[in-house]
Amino acid sequence: MRILLVEDNLVLSDWLSRTLSKDGYVVECCYEGEDAAHRLSDESYDLVILDLGLPRMKGEEVLQRLRSRHSNVPVLVLTAQDVMASRVACLDSGADDYVTKPFNVAELEARIRVLLRRNANHRNPTLTCADLSYNSNTRVFSLKDRDLALTPREHSVLETLMMRGGSTVSKKALAQSLFTLEESASVDAVEIYVHRLRKKLQDSQAVILTLRGLGYLLKSNAV
Ligand code: CA
Repeated sequence: MRILLVEDNLVLSDWLSRTLSKDGYVVECCYEGEDAAHRLSDESYDLVILDLGLPRMKGEEVLQRLRSRHSNVPVLVLTAQDVMASRVACLDSGADDYVTKPFNVAELEARIRVLLRRNANHRNPTLTCADLSYNSNTRVFSLKDRDLALTPREHSVLETLMMRGGSTVSKKALAQSLFTLEESASVDAVEIYVHRLRKKLQDSQAVILTLRGLGYLLKSNAV
């Protein structure tokens, strides 16, 4: 899951991006509004965390531009003032949720999980595909009720496939869920992780199908 964090307070941005990276998200940091607007029009993200008071372009305008392009990416706003009018305005202009600074990190993490699930049309925190299940709160995969040991990148690929269960995910989208703009995204690396995952899922009725030219699909093979 790839998150764009738009926050001009360097200390907060650094701390939050380290926390979220530890949670297993791929986090890209952006420190001003204009850069955020550019990245959002060029790249795809699973979620955006957006501060409103930003240099060069206000967060409100970044949000407006994003929604005027009919992008449905979930946006969680960080607002400094706990003013009802500004919270209402930000929800009305297309934010999905907000937290007021200073915020509790556990609450922010929970809200992120809710938005990611809602975006994938899952309300139940446990997702399943045949005998493979994924608890999106603890972020643990289990196969036939046993925890499945995965490396962080294998986890990231399987999580993306699971969250979009039933739909094909392009190789490019999988590569983007693995790498930030700062690291070079190799599409070939995705093939390696898929290969390793197939080995780990050998005994499972959940299979990763390759759809030539389209991407990958996680599917139940159960009769
Ligand atoms: Ca700010």
